[in-house]
This record gives sequence, C-alpha cells and structure tokens, in this order.
Amino acid sequence: LYVDHPLAEGQPVPLSREEAHYLFGVMRLGQGAEVAVFNGQDGEWTARVAEAGKRGGSLEPVAQAAPQSLPPDVWLLFAPVKKARTDFIVEKAVEMGVRRLVPVATDFTNSERIRQDRLQAHAKEAAEQCGATFVPEVTELAKLPALLSDWPEERRLMFCDEARAGGAGAFASATGDGPWAILVGPEGGFSEAERSRLDAMPQAHVAALGPRILRADTAAVAALTLWQTRFGD
Ligand code: SAM
Repeated sequence: LYVDHPLAEGQPVPLSREEAHYLFGVMRLGQGAEVAVFNGQDGEWTARVAEAGKRGGSLEPVAQAAPQSLPPDVWLLFAPVKKARTDFIVEKAVEMGVRRLVPVATDFTNSERIRQDRLQAHAKEAAEQCGATFVPEVTELAKLPALLSDWPEERRLMFCDEARAGGAGAFASATGDGPWAILVGPEGGFSEAERSRLDAMPQAHVAALGPRILRADTAAVAALTLWQTRFGD
C-alpha cells in the first residue's frame, strides 16, 4: 500500500477513508494484521493495523522490509494519446522502471489535455502492484520545443522514429554511463521540423523499433525494453 506519510518506528500512519475502505472493506484485514507499505522514500515497511475503522484507522510501522531503491536514470517522454492508451504507457513504464514520466505536446499530438493528478495516481497504483518502492514523478505537459531548448547537456535521448531505416544501429552504437531519456511520438508521428530539431542535438540517438509501425503505447514498451537490455540494471 502506498501511503503519503513518513515511515519510521514509533510513528503511526493515519489512514484516509479510501485507504481504510481498501484495507478493511476490500482486503478484510483486522486489527493486528500486517501489511506492506511504502511512501516512495523510506523503502518498504511491514506495518501492523493498530486501529481499524470504517472511515479511517492507523498503521504502526514495525520494521523496514526492504531499503529504498531507485530505478535507472531514464525518463520516458511521451505524447499523450487516448486515455486508456496513455494509462497503459504510464503503467508499463512504472513496471519497466523509469525515473520520470514527461508528457509532451508535439506538433501532431492528439490530445493537448492531460489530468496530471490522475496519471500520478495511476503511477502510484502501478508501483504498488509491481512491488516498486519508488514512484516516478509524472510532470505537467511540456511543449517539445521548450523541453529541448533547455535539455541537459549530459542526458542522452533515444529518439524513436519509425520513418528512419537503420536507426536501431545508431542507438546500438551509443555506449557509456549516464542519464537517458526515451522519446516516443504521438499517433501522427513527428513533423519534419521536429525531426530536424532532434537531429541537430548531439545528445539524440535515433532508434528504429523494427519494420512495422507500432502504436505509441507499444513503441514505449518496446523502447524501454531495448533500453533496459542495453543500459538497465
Ligand atoms: N505517424 C506515423 C504514421 O502513421 O506513419 C506513426 C506514428 S507511431 C503510431 C507513434 C510513435 O511510435 C512514433 O512517433 C514513434 O515514436 C514510435 N514508433 C512506432 N513505430 C516505430 C518504429 N518501428 N520504430 C521507431 N519508433 C516507432
């Protein structure tokens, strides 16, 4: 269970109505039951139910079960697509391990509006489900030109582009340690202006993910898999 509270011995964790409903209504836990909790900072803790009520309750952290871990330093930059597919991108990226999720508005982005709070909640749920102790931040929607003009010098960028033959070779030749980001475009792909802008960046490495055009959500998972194979833990 994700809790928005520090985890330490002797510091009871108050439970919200929703958390109480989940633990005592859905999971049917009672007083004294043990539950695994994390807050994205203090690792995973075993906590005991100290108070179980319909509208709330509290947990007592007993012992740290696992130290805080950090996924490899790769960000996923993705153009929001339809709601269910965007949710899928967030969920799979958390499972695969990313440090940050950055929704980007591109020239051909299908959807200019995102509910950042909803996507962040989705990232938390995905972390709970896959046993991660880290929840990547989902940032507000960023405009691609602004993002690139302020791009950190040391962060390499895996630019996924279905229009480029032989791109996988370019990515395969990238070596060395250091932070990365993966950029996946919208269903409409990238504009020529965006391609020229990205090609001019020394940090950008083009990646082709095979001869067929993948949907944006598939491309995100394929690119993360490729990146994890080469550079992940
Ligand atoms: N506009 C394109 C078209 O209709 O021809 C398709 C874009 S694709 C559905 C969405 C995004 O997934 C692309 O912008 C790219 O980032 C990524 N992508 C899909 N297939 C890919 C491939 N074979 N290699 C590299 N990237 C791919």
